[in-house]
Amino acid sequence: MKKFEDTYRHKGLRKQLTDSLRDKGITDENVLEAINNIPRHFFLDSAFDKIAYEDRAFPIEEGQTISQPYTVAYQTQLLSIKKNDKVLEIGTGSVYQASVLAEMGAWVYTIERQKKIFEINKNFYFKKKYPNIKFFYGDGFEGLPTYAPFHKIIITAAAPFIPTKLVEQLKVGGIMVIPVDEGDAQRMLRLTKQQDGTIVEEAFEQFSFVPMLKGKNG
Ligand code: SAH
Repeated sequence: MKKFEDTYRHKGLRKQLTDSLRDKGITDENVLEAINNIPRHFFLDSAFDKIAYEDRAFPIEEGQTISQPYTVAYQTQLLSIKKNDKVLEIGTGSVYQASVLAEMGAWVYTIERQKKIFEINKNFYFKKKYPNIKFFYGDGFEGLPTYAPFHKIIITAAAPFIPTKLVEQLKVGGIMVIPVDEGDAQRMLRLTKQQDGTIVEEAFEQFSFVPMLKGKNG
């Protein structure tokens, strides 16, 4: 079985995964459609081909993970993505989450702190399909001041606290979705920036992420 082959079997499994996400409470049809359109097994080692459409996280390079589809769907839904939204993502990893955002028509600016992962992503399979993803090597705590402000910001690693610089890079009316807490579980928070610059914070379910670490590696 070639890795970059999207068979009827893959498509069938993907449809089942999408239906299961709907059953688990994901209601944004644009999110579900994006997940149904993207061959997740392309983002994984071919050893995972048979299980790529199970609703679980899997290991990628450097001890990192590709997030569970439910987590990707949940965070994306909280962001209320609209076509042409400018979105900052912290933690590129496998590029799966960035692809979901790009498939929904967002302009994605994604930062990865691990040099090796950043280098691997230079050969990202869907580079031509998603020219709306821009890759950066850097520390997500700093964000991307040059490209700010953003309509939406998504953090895909466990943040020890809410980074002030990221809040500053959010537009008025913008939304940040961030899993916060050290330890085994993180509370998913949605922050919305008000006209006067203050932040409304809402708390959602608990999830488990790899840690958001300071500085670059490599
Ligand atoms: N969004 C990814 C999930 C990757 S896991 C996906 O769809 O596959 C989290 C990623 O965040 C890891 O690759 C990790 O190296 C990266 N990361 C952790 N701390 C970071 C930081 N401060 N800045 C940028 N990336 C960071």
